Amino acid sequence: MSATPHHLHALAAAWSLQAALAQLEQRAKDAIHAQTLAGGREDVSIPSQVFGRRYGLGGHGDPVADLALGAWAPQRPDPCAAALGGILRELDPIAGLLPGAPGMDPVTRIRHAIPAMSALAAERTAAALGRLDASARRTLGIRPDRLPLRGPVPPTCPACGARATLHVQTAGPESAWTVVCDGTRPPGGPHQPCLCTGPGCGCGMPAAVEGVAHIWPRTSVLGAVAGAAPTSQESAR
Ligand SMILES: [Zn+2]
Ligand SMILES: [Zn+2]
Repeated sequence: MSATPHHLHALAAAWSLQAALAQLEQRAKDAIHAQTLAGGREDVSIPSQVFGRRYGLGGHGDPVADLALGAWAPQRPDPCAAALGGILRELDPIAGLLPGAPGMDPVTRIRHAIPAMSALAAERTAAALGRLDASARRTLGIRPDRLPLRGPVPPTCPACGARATLHVQTAGPESAWTVVCDGTRPPGGPHQPCLCTGPGCGCGMPAAVEGVAHIWPRTSVLGAVAGAAPTSQESAR
C-alpha cells in the first residue's frame, strides 16, 4: 500500500466526519434529554435511521436510541438528529459493502477500507466524506478541527515557501493528524491554492500527485520543520 495524497485526504476526511457525527449525536441526545425533562415528549423526533442503533458513533457505546426511547414523535425533528439521520442514510449503503466487525459504525468501516483503495477510489471517498463533513459542521455551526503549525520561527511550506500557511488537521488520534497548506493570496490577486506539481515537487512526498492539494502526515512535517508544533491560539476557517 502506498499512501498517496488522495489516501491521506480520505483518511483525514473520515476522522473529521467521525468527530462531527459524534457531536451531532451528542447535541441530539442533549436536545432529547432537555425535551424529556421539560415533559415535551411530543416535540422531538428522531429519524428512523438513527433509531435502534446499538452503538454510539463516538465509540462510547451509548446509543441515541436508548436515551431517546419514548421521547420521539414524528412531528418536529431535532435539527442535529435529522442531519445525523440523513448522513447515516448516505453512509450505510457504502459501509454495508465493506468488511468489518458486526456493529462497527459506518465511518470506521469506511476508514479501515481506505488504505487498500485505489488512488481513484480514495479520491472519490475523500470528496464524498468531505461533503458530508462540511454538511454536518454547517448544522453544528463549527469549523474544521485544525490548528496553525507554529514554531520558534513560523515554519514555511516546503512546497510553496509561504510562511504561516501550514495547519494541522487535528480530528482523530494524534498519530492520524495531517498537515495542509492554506496557499497564498497575493495582494489584490486571487487565492493561490498550494497544489502539488507531481514527482520532483518541493513537497517531498514520495507519492506526489500533480494537481492535488498538498497534505502531509504530521510526523513528516515535524521532521522537516524542526521545533514546529500546533498551537491552540487560533482556529482558522
Ligand atoms: Zn504551500
Ligand atoms: Zn507536491
